[in-house]
Amino acid sequence: MNMEERLALNKYDVDNQAHIRLEDGKCRDCSHKACLIICPAECFKLREGAVSFAYEGCLECGSCRVVCNEGGLDWSYPRSGFGVSYEYG
Ligand code: SF4
Ligand code: SF4
Repeated sequence: MNMEERLALNKYDVDNQAHIRLEDGKCRDCSHKACLIICPAECFKLREGAVSFAYEGCLECGSCRVVCNEGGLDWSYPRSGFGVSYEYG
């Protein structure tokens, strides 16, 4: 089973309140934009030169929190009862 197939088995109880947010302006000036590479769920996208983020598919791995040293993230876990449920591995 490859990674995409494993990820497809996850279940999400998506909160309408984002648990991770981008801080306005920080990403524009970020020199490395490592979040675009590190996120296994590809929650970060570069669109017309600007970083956008969608929290709904977040795997709660914390990788973006580690690599973002530019103050671009307001990061927390989802509220109790929400977020990803792993079905495999
Ligand atoms: S989230 Fe952090 S690492 Fe990603 S572009 Fe913004 S400041 Fe840079
Ligand atoms: S916690 Fe992990 S899965 Fe969620 S946005 Fe950050 S890098 Fe992506």
